[in-house]
Amino acid sequence: MFDVIIAGCGPTGATLAAELRLHDVRVLVLEKETEPASFVRIVSLHMRSLELMAMRGLLERILRHGRQRPAGGLFAAIPKPVPKGLDSAYAYLLGIPQPVIERLLEEHAIELGAQIRRGCAVAGFEQDDEGVTVELADGERLRSRYLVGCDGGRSTVRKLLGVGFPGEPSRTETLMGEMEVGVPQEEIAARVAGVGEIHRPFWLRPFGTEVYSVVVPAAGVGDRAEPPTLEDFRQQLRAIAGTDFGVHSPRWLSRFGDATRLAERYRVGRVLLAGDAAHIHPPIGGQGLNLGVQDAFNLGWKLAAQIRGWAPETLLDTYQAERHPVAEDVLDNTRAQTELLSPGPGPQAVRRLLTELMDFDEVNRHLIEKIAAIGVRYDFGEGPDLLGRRMRDIDVKQGRLYGLLHRGRGLLLDRTERLTAGGWSDRVDYLADPTAALDVPCVLLRPDGHVAWIGDDQQDLDERLSRWFGEPAG
Ligand SMILES: Cc1cc2nc3c(=O)[nH]c(=O)nc-3n(C[C@H](O)[C@H](O)[C@H](O)COP(=O)(O)OP(=O)(O)OC[C@H]3O[C@@H](n4cnc5c(N)ncnc54)[C@H](O)[C@@H]3O)c2cc1C
Repeated sequence: MFDVIIAGCGPTGATLAAELRLHDVRVLVLEKETEPASFVRIVSLHMRSLELMAMRGLLERILRHGRQRPAGGLFAAIPKPVPKGLDSAYAYLLGIPQPVIERLLEEHAIELGAQIRRGCAVAGFEQDDEGVTVELADGERLRSRYLVGCDGGRSTVRKLLGVGFPGEPSRTETLMGEMEVGVPQEEIAARVAGVGEIHRPFWLRPFGTEVYSVVVPAAGVGDRAEPPTLEDFRQQLRAIAGTDFGVHSPRWLSRFGDATRLAERYRVGRVLLAGDAAHIHPPIGGQGLNLGVQDAFNLGWKLAAQIRGWAPETLLDTYQAERHPVAEDVLDNTRAQTELLSPGPGPQAVRRLLTELMDFDEVNRHLIEKIAAIGVRYDFGEGPDLLGRRMRDIDVKQGRLYGLLHRGRGLLLDRTERLTAGGWSDRVDYLADPTAALDVPCVLLRPDGHVAWIGDDQQDLDERLSRWFGEPAG
């Protein structure tokens, strides 16, 4: 009997497993593939995800494997400088190969004690009042108290749950791969610049010493079960750039679409959905992996609280209440970006207008903060603007604020030195620090770093502690 079975060991599943292990939850991750993906796609980790990694002490490790880039020009690839005053101590973007970030997250989950079984596909499940019986493709049956589908856009768990996945199907497809080319770099550069202005996305970029990363619109929406061939790339390069650049010796070939869909529900009883299993959208702005990892940080401590027995009754349902609107907003911004990248005269006129508007620093910053997810504010009711937002990393007397959140517990940061976490101190840490760079007397942070309360009154604080952390001990 496990506490939680997670279907899928992608970035979302691995992150969730680690978050649950911080609270000693017995976790089993079932991954259908026998080997990790070899697909060397570079993904962007945005500010909020970098902050979350810092909050769990993982950032240094991850930074060694990625390349930092300025956090500008992210929205619809409109080239603009980094806006002034970005509200993060990690105000950059990290490009990192997806298999590397997946490996690091998986290693972290294993170090914390998660069990991961590869070559095990979830094929069915049944839930009852006490738990979920999960059936694997080979007929083996396993039992857990909860099941979380982190099994990607074609999620078996979501389909078996019968949860609707409304939205738009793919309208365009894009070929993406790595291969060698047969012409000199200068010739490629001369051709690619002009073509990339008209056809988006389109590029041939050197990747390593011999290999090029190639992205070109596909001829149409074909059978997605069939992998693309090198000949598909050649044909499309000829059709769009007038030459196939002598491409040969592919390392890998792939394609992706622009389907945009959002699960109607994130929870049905003891079964939940997270990451691409709950939402899919085009990769513009590089947000999907980030969104999934952030889902996992939102869900992990709540599910752990449910299992440990101290969760307030509605805590687990706040996962959907908070994360569904965030995904809705990401889907919308990718829809907007898709329009801005399409070649028609109308969208191009809107693009020119937005390009002008982005010269206003506020506009530029708002759009970057949206993509980087540091502008997210959950609805915790009336209160100061900081309430419901995540707290940026600041200096505190013991070092950095995020350094105090490694264990995934709540934190009461108190400048007044008068308050106490009292009967919640088994779930909430306390730091009295009159020098903390806060312009409010005291904040209560949830384990995901969001501000759950601001004030200086103990009774008011106790109410908030019960709302988020349940009944006090003893
Ligand atoms: C071209 C492209 C570029 C992208 N760039 C970025 C970017 O820059 N930044 C960004 O944030 N995102 C980016 N994304 C999106 C990102 O890759 C996905 O959002 C991310 O991989 C989702 O993670 P996940 O763990 O939710 O799902 P997945 O990565 O799909 O992982 C799901 C896992 O579940 C397993 N699985 C499936 N079915 C079962 C089953 N029945 N039983 C057990 N296991 C199962 C799968 O094998 C897989 O390992 C990009 C996507 C594309 C296509």
